[in-house]
Amino acid sequence: MISFNIPPYTGKENEYIAQAIGKRKICGDGEFTRKCSQWLETHTGTAKALLTTSCTHATEMAALLIGIWPGDEVIMPSYTFVSTASAFALRGAKVVFVDIRPDTMNIDENLIEAAITEKTKAIVPVHYAGISCEMDKIMEIARRHHLSVVEDAAQGVLSTYKGKALGTIGDYGCYSFHETKNYSMGEGGALLVRDEKNVERAEIIREKGTNRSQYFRGQIDKYTWMEAGSSYLPSELNAAYLWAQLEVSGRILENRMASWNRYREGLKALEAAGKIELPYVPEDCGHNAHMFYIKVSNLKERQELLAFLKEHGVSAVFHYIPLHSSPAGRLFGRFYGEDRYTTMESQRLLRLPMYYGLAEKADRVIDAVKAFFK
Ligand SMILES: *Cc1c(COP(=O)(O)O)cnc(C)c1O
Repeated sequence: MISFNIPPYTGKENEYIAQAIGKRKICGDGEFTRKCSQWLETHTGTAKALLTTSCTHATEMAALLIGIWPGDEVIMPSYTFVSTASAFALRGAKVVFVDIRPDTMNIDENLIEAAITEKTKAIVPVHYAGISCEMDKIMEIARRHHLSVVEDAAQGVLSTYKGKALGTIGDYGCYSFHETKNYSMGEGGALLVRDEKNVERAEIIREKGTNRSQYFRGQIDKYTWMEAGSSYLPSELNAAYLWAQLEVSGRILENRMASWNRYREGLKALEAAGKIELPYVPEDCGHNAHMFYIKVSNLKERQELLAFLKEHGVSAVFHYIPLHSSPAGRLFGRFYGEDRYTTMESQRLLRLPMYYGLAEKADRVIDAVKAFFK
């Protein structure tokens, strides 16, 4: 069976975790956390990157930082992972879902402005499959309406839009290092803070609402409770695992890109024959080979293909059930405008196995997909 995902492992993980244990420093903000944060800052150009316990938690931090209060509204796509919405619902926000573009599966930037009301506080673009939303347009709308922008860049680590790293364009960017993502620490993530002026509060919220980070740097002589926060910093053990990946990020990216291109080459004849659709990467977007998906005709054909692939030893998956049709989505959100593409396109999409080290196994997946359409 070809797995859908295998968590990345590059060889140095055990050694680094042993080093963290050896230093008798396994809580947060030690040497490995510092290395990972600095790496993220260098490679993205953000003012500050703070490692977190998940992308979900990074998004919760962003909601606290931009000051979401009960009754505020936040605009996002319905075609996304639960956490994008849940982080804001926790603060009492109403989630306003807007339709996606069928070509990238990202929020349709042309539908956002009409969904804005006097209660709107933020726009939350999700860079699906590590392929960027139309950020120039989104930032321009946000500026005109004085809204914050929180990028869900969970899938977009090392992707770019017009040369800028995803997660650095909006006020805050949220990365995931879950085991299904390109770079992993088991469970973990990062919050990217674009503006220097917001860094201090971000550090406070991450450290249970205290100014302990300043204390550790020797900037103050005692630390105290400053505002409502939580514990969002990961253990050094997790950071040590992540460092082994970031250190060889280029190798991981190249390896995934080779598989991604192999899929695209191998399946383009089926696309030309009108049997399937392949991912579209707009010109301004540099992607990170996070995901390879195909789209078939409809829900029924997808179910048949999933079953066929399983029979032929390939584990493929689908996602997401649109959030506006979920129980919590109905409670915390509403769909603005018409659902032209969200539901329909989500039912056509199927993700093929993709992980570091997939290599020639991709050919067996391609053969199985071709055999189905014969
Ligand atoms: C994976 C993912 C998340 C959640 O990441 P965690 O690190 O598991 O919290 C959020 N949004 C999107 C789009 C994701 O793909």
